[in-house]
Amino acid sequence: MRTTNQQTIIKAVLKKYGGHRSAEEVFHKVRRRLPQISLATVYRNLKRLTELGEVKRLFVNGKTLYESDHGIHSHFICCRCGKIEDIEIQQETLLATLKRKGYKTESLDIIATGVCKACSKS
Ligand SMILES: [Zn+2]
Ligand SMILES: [Zn+2]
Repeated sequence: MRTTNQQTIIKAVLKKYGGHRSAEEVFHKVRRRLPQISLATVYRNLKRLTELGEVKRLFVNGKTLYESDHGIHSHFICCRCGKIEDIEIQQETLLATLKRKGYKTESLDIIATGVCKACSKS
């Protein structure tokens, strides 16, 4: 099995299931299509896809999660139910500020934590 093919399947799995997935979750899904694949191989491919910018990686509560790249967005993590939501926030102002201060920003991850809409209703 060629690496390119594995990467294509891993990318497709992340896109299909959506959301933010751990390498283990991706592994369990990918294994249905590639029964011979190992967790180590999934890790390696996720790392490569992240380097290529095709997959986004995020660190939440000590866990590494991956998601299909679907444009610049930020995250809100609910401290009650643990749900991770994608939120569209204008990041241009922050990027412009960093630039003005002389920083060359390569990545910008905004993670807000608190109580989600569903949890604050109950
Ligand atoms: Zn919640
Ligand atoms: Zn996201």
